[in-house]
Amino acid sequence: MTDRNSRRIADLVKLSGNSECADCGYQPPEWASYNIGVFLCTTCAAWHRRLGSHISKVKSLTLDKWDDEQVEMMEMVGNASAKEKYEQHVPACYRIPKAGDPSVLLEQWIRAKYERQEFIDVDKQTYVRSYLEGTLMKRAKDENKYYQRKFILADNTLKYFSKENAKEPKATINLSELNVCLSPSKMSQENGLQLSYMCDGSTRHIYVYHESGETIIHWYTAIRSIKLNWLMVAYPSASAEELVPYLTTDFVIEGWLSKTGPSERDAYRKRWFILDDRKLMYHEGPMDAYPRGEIFLGHKDDNYSIKEGAPRGCKDQDFSFSLTTPERTYVMSAPTSDERARWIQAINAVLERVLRPQDNQSKMAISENRKSARNSRHSWLSFL
Ligand SMILES: [Zn+2]
Repeated sequence: MTDRNSRRIADLVKLSGNSECADCGYQPPEWASYNIGVFLCTTCAAWHRRLGSHISKVKSLTLDKWDDEQVEMMEMVGNASAKEKYEQHVPACYRIPKAGDPSVLLEQWIRAKYERQEFIDVDKQTYVRSYLEGTLMKRAKDENKYYQRKFILADNTLKYFSKENAKEPKATINLSELNVCLSPSKMSQENGLQLSYMCDGSTRHIYVYHESGETIIHWYTAIRSIKLNWLMVAYPSASAEELVPYLTTDFVIEGWLSKTGPSERDAYRKRWFILDDRKLMYHEGPMDAYPRGEIFLGHKDDNYSIKEGAPRGCKDQDFSFSLTTPERTYVMSAPTSDERARWIQAINAVLERVLRPQDNQSKMAISENRKSARNSRHSWLSFL
């Protein structure tokens, strides 16, 4: 009897729709929720278990015994029809996680689907609004301390206030210039969020978190929702699906590299590099408020290239590589050969990608920054 049921389960998981995890798409699923009727990967099954058995009852496909009734439930529902029910009204701005995404995103997606059932009842999607006010813990600019700060999302801007009853905001960030990136490992905060925006010709990073994962995803989704509305007005011929990839971008890659200065005699200095879309930024430390420099990455046909090694005459170091832009060649070195390969591959992918209209804005902003850097006493930072 049990053997027959194990075979039935093994056959069911092969069906299209069931062959990948219902929540993150990971293959192959090794678990199932037999009251909801979905096949799950090990990671998502663990989140289901945390919902409690009143919401989701989890079983291993191979290690547990299945009775007739449970198998029938899996036969009757399955991933495709569960998706029709639990994901019927997922707003376009909502980021659906993939395997390997930050766990706060995965946990909140699973809770939103089954516990709060936000995608069955649109009235529960309170992040799809044009106004949001609340407090977040914000890291101080020059010390590793977090303070509670009031944030307001309204009129296509994000504002934050340095005092609870302050009348004027400390900063007003235009949402069209803001990128938001979940950054749990770098910040050592499960619900950590890095906000990057243009401020006086330079990128500015601020770091926030909230105790509650639900709240941080609420802010993340609300920012995406407003940005999507704005983009749909700015690019009326594009569909929501086409615009969604530009709402927020995860950093392509970040980490320590060493970099020489503009002169051949300059020594290598350790810098924290972030590749954010077409912008390569370097900082003194991973949690800095401002980068020391920013390099716009154009298309390879416009004299941008990257290769292993340092140019002749330049100090060479292990695992070095050179990035050439129309203005200058930047020489860097990675801590390992694998790291160098990852950076070269990531930058190459950007150089091969065709520019979008908004990329030119980013280029203008960075070159404006260069001009002001050239005029300041930090002129050595610029490409001259
Ligand atoms: Zn999964």
